[in-house]
Amino acid sequence: MTEAAVALHPPRKQDVIQVRNPATLELVAEIPAVDEAGVREAVARGREAQAVWAAMTFTERGRLLRRFRDAIVDHRDRLAEVIAAETGKPRADIYGGELMYVCDAIGFWAKNAAAYLADQKITPHLLKTKRVYSTYHPLGVVGIIGPWNFPFILTIGEALPALMAGNAVVIKPSEVTPRSAMVGAELAAEAGLPEHLLQVIPGYGETGSYLVDYADMICFTGSVETGRKVAERAARRLIPVTLELGGKDPMIVLRDADLDRAANGCVWGALFNAGQVCMSVERVYVEAPVYDAFVSKVVEKVRRLRQGLSHQDVDIGPMTFPPQLEKVERHVQEARAKGATVLVGGRRNPNLPGLFYEPTVLTNVTHEMAIMREETFGPVIPIMKVADAEEALRLANDSPYGLTASIWTKDKERGQVLARRIEAGAVCVNDCLVNFAITEAPMGGVKHSGIGRRHGAEGIRKFCQQRTVVVDRLATKSEINWYPSSPRRTALFRRLLPLLYRSGWRNKLRG
Ligand code: NDP
Repeated sequence: MTEAAVALHPPRKQDVIQVRNPATLELVAEIPAVDEAGVREAVARGREAQAVWAAMTFTERGRLLRRFRDAIVDHRDRLAEVIAAETGKPRADIYGGELMYVCDAIGFWAKNAAAYLADQKITPHLLKTKRVYSTYHPLGVVGIIGPWNFPFILTIGEALPALMAGNAVVIKPSEVTPRSAMVGAELAAEAGLPEHLLQVIPGYGETGSYLVDYADMICFTGSVETGRKVAERAARRLIPVTLELGGKDPMIVLRDADLDRAANGCVWGALFNAGQVCMSVERVYVEAPVYDAFVSKVVEKVRRLRQGLSHQDVDIGPMTFPPQLEKVERHVQEARAKGATVLVGGRRNPNLPGLFYEPTVLTNVTHEMAIMREETFGPVIPIMKVADAEEALRLANDSPYGLTASIWTKDKERGQVLARRIEAGAVCVNDCLVNFAITEAPMGGVKHSGIGRRHGAEGIRKFCQQRTVVVDRLATKSEINWYPSSPRRTALFRRLLPLLYRSGWRNKLRG
């Protein structure tokens, strides 16, 4: 290995995580990895804390979480330092993205959890003599396994509905970015959340796999490959799992689109967080009549973007860790070799020291290239010309993924009709990525992009057992189907069957 390669791929120390700043490659922290015994103990401690927490009312839990929010606000600069040191993100994206989302989500869940988890009255269609309702109960200790691209949102942010539902939470953050969640949990404890209610267990992948062995539920965000392993392991214990996985999200630009809005949306939607967003615009299909105009607008806007260090006034930061940078390089090189044209970018930024890849626009791309089929997760915009909306839809659905998508057209009605034909968990019309910020709206994938939803009612009920209570209203001595059996009762049921269920009979009876 060359010296540079060794700097990028230092040998892994089995029991210590080394966190590096991707913008400068400096060593930021060395953190002991939690082993199996540590995971088991964390879950046991969480179980004790959960008993206390579950006995509190929603109002009490909400009050403590709001105090946690105050602590985040008061310590925003410290958090921004920590997040910047392990991701290199521009400060604007940290304050306006990571911290803003979590603060907003605390208020949302603190306010709405009680309504989402209220007892639900059920009216039986047949057994009218029964009063029925269902109730929600916390699962116990929820394990959250998160990725590195949003190390605060996808760890601490994910924990919020689980906590409001009455669970304890143990977070296994990515080995690449563990400090963000660790500092978040420290602030939560300082704000008065019960000790060990929200814990962080830094470690490599195996620490995550131990969490699957001990927690009562796993909420996983990450790659399809790891998600499959987590689901298989959880299946052995029959514990519930939700999987928020990767995407290859298409953007469709129709000939009647507002091209300025579409180009602005494309550049932001594809390049936000250096493209390291599960729902980022990963491939673009443009109807032929507006293709040239759209491409030139996108290229012009991309050329104006500024890339640099977190504290500078920049739009785009680095890739977060070396394998991600190498994947982007591989995809662009392969596309080039198969005939793609690089209109801008297409290389590491030679003027910056860390893992910076220049914002890139590619044309002449096809579905034979990885750049149009596999998740790139980088600052690359591959644009393809299509004959019409039908071809765009066919190509958009030609993917194992189905996280989000977007359609750009001035005809909003048609946009919504086409949206229903896209195989994705969410489709935006004349917008992109924004559905994540609408905490009321279910968010999650179809096909290989995942199982389960965050946000909305599903986003908190998934952290609960739903149980049903049935109460007899009449208090008769017996029921018609209870013992003893008799020929008369058999004959009665025999006569009832056609009366109740034979097509036409019920209507005749009702006149
Ligand atoms: P990975 O799947 O590599 O890792 C995710 C987490 O799982 C990490 O904490 C990782 O630890 C841990 N892990 C690794 N192996 C195991 C195992 N065997 N058992 C349990 N846990 C394990 O994903 P990335 O961190 O690379 O994240 C990027 C991916 O996340 C992309 O595909 C992206 O699309 C997806 N994502 C999806 C989102 C969604 O909402 N659908 C949102 C954001 C990202 P370690 O890091 O130590 O290896």
